[in-house]
Amino acid sequence: MATTSRDYYQVLGLPKSASADDIKKAYRRLARQVHPDLHSGSKKSEMEKKFKELNEAHEVLSDPAKRKKYDHHGANWEQAEAYEQTRRQAAARGESGPEFSSGGEGFSDIFENLFKGRGRSGNGRGFARQGEDLETEVQLTLAEVFTGVTKRMTLQEPVPCSTCHGSGALRGRTCPTCQGHGAILQPNTIEVRIPAGVQDGTRVRVAGKGQAGVNGGKPGDLYLRVAITQDKVFRRQGSDIHVSLPVFPWEAALGADVMAPTLMEPVRVKVPPGSKSEGKLRLKGKGLPAAAGGHGDLFLTIQIVMPPSLTDEERKLYDQLRAIEHPDPRAELLAQAKRRSQP
Ligand SMILES: [Zn+2]
Repeated sequence: MATTSRDYYQVLGLPKSASADDIKKAYRRLARQVHPDLHSGSKKSEMEKKFKELNEAHEVLSDPAKRKKYDHHGANWEQAEAYEQTRRQAAARGESGPEFSSGGEGFSDIFENLFKGRGRSGNGRGFARQGEDLETEVQLTLAEVFTGVTKRMTLQEPVPCSTCHGSGALRGRTCPTCQGHGAILQPNTIEVRIPAGVQDGTRVRVAGKGQAGVNGGKPGDLYLRVAITQDKVFRRQGSDIHVSLPVFPWEAALGADVMAPTLMEPVRVKVPPGSKSEGKLRLKGKGLPAAAGGHGDLFLTIQIVMPPSLTDEERKLYDQLRAIEHPDPRAELLAQAKRRSQP
């Protein structure tokens, strides 16, 4: 069924006297302008409509027999043809069919029956075009990156409208269920396995889950763009993980066995005696799976912290420490600063 009310010659920008060659050239030139794959955003759906219109115009005007009928009957040439055929058949059987009138309600009813079950794009003609690829974001925690994860996603997939059997029309009117699209969107839940160790921004391809194809074309693919959620505890650097490890001054001085977090269970680690602030402890193989195989490492960065408040006893002990003679910890810093300030 014609989906455009525009004049086919107008669509191609040609006069009625255009030659077959003019039609071919105009079609090629316009197809390059309005092909939906060349556009994005709000422009895309507008271009899809124009491209459809263009293909329809070309299909009819490039076929001399169809063009002749179109020139004679106008936009409803197909229906008029079919109508006249049934009328001839009815006349041959001795029945008196209704008179031909372009427009009227009876006209539409008959053609609805004649073309029932024929989808708008399902007649096998026109270009088979692969469906668009779709892209959507999927959020992963670092723990999910560590193990890999199966994500459930609900997609809105087009299925043929059961009210109008995909034709988009019901008794000559726009189908109320699908608003004339011939298809409705139905939620479909799929499970997608995301492998361990993916990087932020990785695109995982799910074949055949993009938009449906046109005229028997293959469906597009669905791409899941991985976005790794910022983590307050674990900072990622490639396949390595970095964690700040708070340590009391006496633990740093004397050494200690402390619990440290990993992406899985916490583990016991040894803080060596005499540890310095910003010193790093390495937990081999406790990072993320690496692309080259194996795992990265987990690094604990020592942060020397004070207890939130000092008890009287602690204050007394710090007092004793202060009484002991130490080299000035700022001596080197002061010497460096002095050298720099001299001309
Ligand atoms: Zn419908």
